[in-house]
Amino acid sequence: MCAPTEDERRLFLALWPSDAERRQLAELAAAVAGRRRVRDANLHLTLVFLGATNAARLAAYEAALTDLAVPSLELILDRYGYWPRPRILWLGSSHTPPELYELVAELHRRLRGCGFTPERRAFQAHITLARKFSGPAPTQPPVAPIRWRVNEVALVESQSSPEGSRYRVLCRWPGG
Ligand code: ATP
Ligand code: MG
Repeated sequence: MCAPTEDERRLFLALWPSDAERRQLAELAAAVAGRRRVRDANLHLTLVFLGATNAARLAAYEAALTDLAVPSLELILDRYGYWPRPRILWLGSSHTPPELYELVAELHRRLRGCGFTPERRAFQAHITLARKFSGPAPTQPPVAPIRWRVNEVALVESQSSPEGSRYRVLCRWPGG
């Protein structure tokens, strides 16, 4: 992990679950991911990883996102996946709404204007449930898919602590 210098913060843009959604996500994680699971408070869906960001750059990002329009969409989380190399067990959707891809593209467009270089890898909507997971993903999909109503984007700071990363929501769009 590239550690931020003193005047930098490690940031990302994410879909941030409400308490009710978080509870449902945490239940699934507890059921399938065992002791390697991501802590409940950390469950999220990353849209854009911004990385180490200084104050001037953060101000530019915030200005670029002020009038961001976030479409109201429903994400149906109905499948598990496993990436063997990073050993990540994740929860995702068998039909990611096109509006979510468009939202990520719009974020990239706005951030590019501030000098940000988007990842070359295509966006894959997923919520990490466990790391260092030995795999494979459960063969059965979740019994009851989680329906996540999305209408805002959160700017989140990742802080490292002896117990692992802790996240803090700095602001949300639209408004608030
Ligand atoms: P740790 O790195 O301490 O194990 P973490 O991965 O949860 O914890 P961060 O590395 O700060 O915390 O990552 C924050 C979010 O950004 C996570 O969703 C992570 O998957 C994602 N992320 C981190 N690095 C990258 C990267 N280089 N490219 C894309 N997404 C990233
Ligand atoms: Mg990481």
